[in-house]
Amino acid sequence: MIDLHTHTTASDGTLSPRQLVQAAAAVGLSAIAVTDHDTTAGLEEALDEAGPSGVRVVPGVEISIEFRGPRVGGRPGWLHLLAYFLPAGGLLAGKLERLQRWRRERNGLMVEKLRRLGMDITLEQVAALSGGGQVGRPHFARALLEAGYVDNLQQAFDRYLKKGAAAYVDKQRLTIDQALQLVREDGAVAVLAHPFSLGLGDEELSERLARWRWLGLAGMEVEYPEHDSDLRRRLHRLAAHHQLVATGGSDFHGTNKDGIELGRGHDGNISVPDEVLAELERRR
Ligand SMILES: [Zn+2]
Ligand SMILES: [Zn+2]
Repeated sequence: MIDLHTHTTASDGTLSPRQLVQAAAAVGLSAIAVTDHDTTAGLEEALDEAGPSGVRVVPGVEISIEFRGPRVGGRPGWLHLLAYFLPAGGLLAGKLERLQRWRRERNGLMVEKLRRLGMDITLEQVAALSGGGQVGRPHFARALLEAGYVDNLQQAFDRYLKKGAAAYVDKQRLTIDQALQLVREDGAVAVLAHPFSLGLGDEELSERLARWRWLGLAGMEVEYPEHDSDLRRRLHRLAAHHQLVATGGSDFHGTNKDGIELGRGHDGNISVPDEVLAELERRR
């Protein structure tokens, strides 16, 4: 069995890349893909542990794509694209690094805006709330709450942090066309992550898949802890219809996502056979 969707401390997981690979060996997985959010910073360490552990490590990433969809579970729908078999120093890795740099600058700009609005907030304060990981708006919201400038986190977003609000600074995300092009140019493989999060009906999703398939999309996550059996059935049909590889993964985040086990999902509700990885490799 394998797991094609995992996070480490390079983004918002709690295991270091090395610990993650060791954990995969301990539960008997033959391969994992390391797919941190918008960064490839953990890949070198994970690949370094692959040999000693006997676990095959697929260098990957999970890209946050610019997307406006219907609301899903109270928040706007979101689109994540997984990329596998990334070459070291590839185009996508370089682009993501530049976007990361922008994100750090963006945090500084948001602090400036808040200070101009009369709030005594520092970047150090906000960063301390992230526990050393990527700093983002949830940490700004907590800082504002702790400093007593808002009554709750929602208020922090509504007044200052949400798109268009007083201290908001634009995110600059890749469009799916840009991301799929970089994946193609890198000789990597792209897979749509957790399709439920797009909030689209089957027909709308199918239309998008047709277009993305044409731009090089190779697969779609079907086995995913949050997908119920009915959704999996429908996604399997769509995958077959669009000749996409039906893939899967746990979206393991260590103790940052309770109840999700590496390779097994929620109480063993996912299982992904080795053949899926072989199938993806054939799409390179
Ligand atoms: Zn995701
Ligand atoms: Zn993920």
